[in-house]
Amino acid sequence: MTFSELGLSESVLNAVEDAGYKEPTPIQAQAIPHVLRGVDVLGCAQTGTGKTAGFTLPMIDLLSRGRAKARMPRSLILEPTRELATQVAENFETYGKNNRLSMALLIGGVSFEDQNRKIDRGVDVLIATPGRLLDHFERGRLLMRGVEILVIDESDRMLDMGFIPDVERIASLLNPNRQTLFFSATMPPEIRRLADVFLKDPVEVSVAPPASPAETVEQSLSIVRSGDKRAALRALLRDQPVKNALIFCNRKRDVDVVAKSLASHGFDAAALHGDMTQSHRTQTLERFKNGELKLMVCSDVAARGLDIAGLSHVFLFDLPYHPDDYVHRIGRTGRAGMRGRSFSFATPEDGKFLSAIEGLIGREIPRFEIDGIDGETVAEDDGRGRGRGRGGRTRREGSASGSGRGRAKRESPPKDETPAANEDAPKEDSPKAAPAKEDAPKESKPRTPRAKRSDAKPKTAAGKTPARRREPKDDTPSGPGLGDHMPAFLMRPARPKGKS
Ligand code: AMP
Repeated sequence: MTFSELGLSESVLNAVEDAGYKEPTPIQAQAIPHVLRGVDVLGCAQTGTGKTAGFTLPMIDLLSRGRAKARMPRSLILEPTRELATQVAENFETYGKNNRLSMALLIGGVSFEDQNRKIDRGVDVLIATPGRLLDHFERGRLLMRGVEILVIDESDRMLDMGFIPDVERIASLLNPNRQTLFFSATMPPEIRRLADVFLKDPVEVSVAPPASPAETVEQSLSIVRSGDKRAALRALLRDQPVKNALIFCNRKRDVDVVAKSLASHGFDAAALHGDMTQSHRTQTLERFKNGELKLMVCSDVAARGLDIAGLSHVFLFDLPYHPDDYVHRIGRTGRAGMRGRSFSFATPEDGKFLSAIEGLIGREIPRFEIDGIDGETVAEDDGRGRGRGRGGRTRREGSASGSGRGRAKRESPPKDETPAANEDAPKEDSPKAAPAKEDAPKESKPRTPRAKRSDAKPKTAAGKTPARRREPKDDTPSGPGLGDHMPAFLMRPARPKGKS
């Protein structure tokens, strides 16, 4: 199959050729003709499969046939994180370079002014995170009825991050006769139900079994004591042919600690997480993508969809709480047909998480011994017989990296820390001119308060507000003495001083 068989215009075909693509990827071959026909599409595709071009290429052709009016965007692409939104915008520029379409990127953490100017001029394509989009709408800057094409990308991530009420609200503001393209890396029942609400007679396209880890990633796992993780990481970084690597931690605090620790040991490492200012985030990611920075220690803000050319290694300093995140984290490497390598650390207490991951991927992750680090076994706490007593004792070869049992304190962060998985927004980088409500970390915190403000009350696919995913008890933010129940007013972000 060639691109020219898909029905795309000459200008788009030329841009694709300039991008160096020889033939469409399976998701592109399947999705593009349907998108061009104007029908709704439900796409199940992992990141790295080329799904962005799968929807942007035909959108460029569809949108070339009309003109944008002031403040009335003609299409809208919703992304769960700022990084993904930025990446899609970059893709749009590449693929749309021969078409004169206007685009605006609406993400938090940057000034409203530039965004307003673009909206006022009229845009063909709006690429946005849900929180910032609603901020613009609520300020009366956007007229949403003109949206002819809606793309909801990374839907399962939207669900995980608690954005679905916002997405539902946004969808309720659009023209009901629009075309909707709904993409998700995994298709759990909640996502299917949402798809039923958002889509009309969709064509389904699917290119990989849900949550199957990329075949091109060689995975390994070491069971180590929590206090040995940093030494173990350093040993691996010295031992492995690492060109560039992402190092995932579950908590923002650990991201900082590990990045600083690596830097103090002479490694070229920096942190990326949602508590950093947007400019710092953008700069760090840019340096990493350009090859100026070798190691990026990050939270799950970097787990989905980020496309870093030729990433050689991914290290999971912590096993994620949710097995899907394992697949997304390791999927940053082994992309575009290249081979990649992942190393994960599990502690003896991680049996439950390890068991869930191995259950999801349907096999045991091969165990790996790290020179100089005492191997451990996982505790028998999963009750399902998986991941138990494995890992074994590993070699002790006189430790260059100085491991020792009982020597190190456990590195678990304090119980009050919010897990990094739900934190795609900085707290201190809000636009200065914005009223207080826009300063809230919109892309990170539970979305229920905004959903409550919603005047339009769209029905949810599940018939109720989709639940934000729960983190393990120790990390779940909870009110004093309230157990699992958290009244909405307590979840509302505090207003910064001096703002009303
Ligand atoms: P995505 O899954 O959309 O994030 O795309 C992953 C990577 O594949 C990006 O670097 C794209 O530039 C690249 N890509 C997309 N389509 C093709 C294609 N048809 N041939 C080769 N590379 C592609």
